[in-house]
Amino acid sequence: MDPVEILRAMKASLGGGGETALSAVEGKLKDPFAVLVATVLSHRTRDERTSEAAMRLFGRFRTPQELAAADESEVAGLIRGVGFYRNKARAIINIAKEITTKHGGEVPRDLEGLLELPSVGRKTANCVLVYGFGLEAIPVDTHVHRIANRLGLVATRTPGETESRLMEIFPRNAWTEVNDTFVMFGKKICKPIGPRCWSCPLTGFCMYYKTGSGRRTQGEREREVKRKS
Ligand code: SF4
Repeated sequence: MDPVEILRAMKASLGGGGETALSAVEGKLKDPFAVLVATVLSHRTRDERTSEAAMRLFGRFRTPQELAAADESEVAGLIRGVGFYRNKARAIINIAKEITTKHGGEVPRDLEGLLELPSVGRKTANCVLVYGFGLEAIPVDTHVHRIANRLGLVATRTPGETESRLMEIFPRNAWTEVNDTFVMFGKKICKPIGPRCWSCPLTGFCMYYKTGSGRRTQGEREREVKRKS
């Protein structure tokens, strides 16, 4: 199956509903700095909490300069609700300071520049490129890594290896769609535990399903339906 067809099938199965936290923040604030901060907030945090915290924070501090001068406990209070909020408050302020002092208040538009910021790893940097600037990159989080391996698109052990392989597999003009589509698909259908293979359009292609794991899941689902009927 062509990788672009896989993306299309995933999108069709989602029915057009919902959006990731980063899409939501970008849609509302249209600001790469907000996307960068939201990506930091999103680590180990549900999407709804990430977007709520980002909107509260940016309702009070709008620019890197304002956040660089912010009181850490006030920032922590605004983002309370996301995981590790105290550490993240410190990290966000440090990022804002670095952007203010070394980049003239502008978020770097390239991977190397982003990776030099404190607390910014490869996934966060790629998210800023895709969601903040609309540039071609493939951010690999746990959803992308898990689903790409389950499908058999890649056979990799680390997100970094997955990123390299997916960049070879997908045509460049599809890169910006990969993260958003895989994340939504991972939240609704190919869940970390108990993937909903019975409602997935990719069973004919998926290695995980074909080798039995997914079929057992479907069997369990059928037994569950019988029990309830
Ligand atoms: S068949 Fe199951 S494991 Fe494979 S992609 Fe679909 S939901 Fe995920």
